[in-house]
Amino acid sequence: MVNDRVSPGTRAARQGPVPKMTGMATPTDARVPTPAPARVSASRPALSTVGDPDLAALLRELGQPSWRARQLREATWQPYVNGFGEIRQLPGGLRAELAGRLRFSTAAVTSERVADGGQTLKLLCALDGPQTVETVVMESPARGASVRRATVCVSTQVGCAVGCPFCATGRMGLRRSCTPAEVVDQVRLAGQALSRRGLGPVTHVVYMGMGEPLAAYETTVASLRVLVGSAGISPRRITVSTSGVVPGIRRLAAEGLPVTLAVSLHAASDALRDRLVPLNRAHPLDGLVAAAGAYARTTGRRLSLEWCLIGGVNDGLDQAAGLVGIAHRLGAHVNVIPMNRIDGSPWGPPPAAVGRAFLRHLLSAGVTVTVRDTRGGEAEAACGQLRAALEPRRQLRPDGSLAPQRPARHGAPLRG
Ligand code: SAH
Ligand code: SF4
Repeated sequence: MVNDRVSPGTRAARQGPVPKMTGMATPTDARVPTPAPARVSASRPALSTVGDPDLAALLRELGQPSWRARQLREATWQPYVNGFGEIRQLPGGLRAELAGRLRFSTAAVTSERVADGGQTLKLLCALDGPQTVETVVMESPARGASVRRATVCVSTQVGCAVGCPFCATGRMGLRRSCTPAEVVDQVRLAGQALSRRGLGPVTHVVYMGMGEPLAAYETTVASLRVLVGSAGISPRRITVSTSGVVPGIRRLAAEGLPVTLAVSLHAASDALRDRLVPLNRAHPLDGLVAAAGAYARTTGRRLSLEWCLIGGVNDGLDQAAGLVGIAHRLGAHVNVIPMNRIDGSPWGPPPAAVGRAFLRHLLSAGVTVTVRDTRGGEAEAACGQLRAALEPRRQLRPDGSLAPQRPARHGAPLRG
């Protein structure tokens, strides 16, 4: 019985809020100075998401030519501009007027941590009220034939209502959803953080931070439109990860935003998935697989299936066989993420031999699989999410061993 393999302690593991990623620090982390956080006030519309008609109307009202809108849009994404007062192209009076009518940023970086020889930046972003979210940036320098990439992992919610027992965010409960501007501003602030280190712009965005993007549907879609529009990031370079909000997947397919969809599957039977991803009770596997398949057909994008491999829970060959069936049915790629331990949970990654057997089963069935290797530092990985999303991926060899590390699709190699 698959369910019998779920170890005790699940309920205890869910108790008590656990701050997201508090343990991500590694011995190589270093505090670096950050700009003074801007005062964040909720009263004015955000520049990053104000619509073209509203911006045009505001500029008209202020007696400005329409081309000022383009200047403002460009300034939004200038890495050195932190407020209207710093937009040199604008007359001083207009800067002051705009500052009274719009908010330049809805988030402010209050702490910035560098790890992994400067390739990983972890930003703590203060939002309105007492809320903060973490945003992680991974720089992956050009190497051989592969081009440079910089991937930002954004949060769409403070906490999450889905409550997956292996996830630190799930144990926080949901505090609130982010606004579209707060998501866009995470990307903008990440671009600034890269620029402060002399690095290039953001190239990829993954919605794999705190929260369930399709539970914050309007936020996700509105922020995607801005990222694809004024930020100029191709939808092909954006991945939205979902725990399986079926109506959201169906809606997203019809938005004309062909982003990559990653489905966090983690279990191939309803009995087990009901426990690992409680949302499954409302949206069981059959409907989820059908919606994911429809998404792939409509958008032409290949799906990813995420599988957080938990020792003694979902690492059996019965589950592997179920995963093979679903992956084949969807033509999907599988990402296996050995579970990052979180405080208070008895769960963790399986022993290496069990993990290898699981992977071998997928591989021998012809499924394309990559592994996100947690390696060293796992003990500090209070949150499995941002970290897992950005960790290096290693190809599985036919003998079940892992090939040497190569740059991650959504990230960069860490040390070693
Ligand atoms: N809520 C969305 C997106 C954020 S989670 C979702 O669930 O898809 C991003 C990924 O991190 C998901 O696949 C999630 O299952 C995984 N994850 C969460 N906690 C983890 C942990 N402790 N170890 C490994 N992966 C984890
Ligand atoms: Fe929410 Fe995703 Fe964490 Fe589940 S894994 S609790 S859906 S953030």
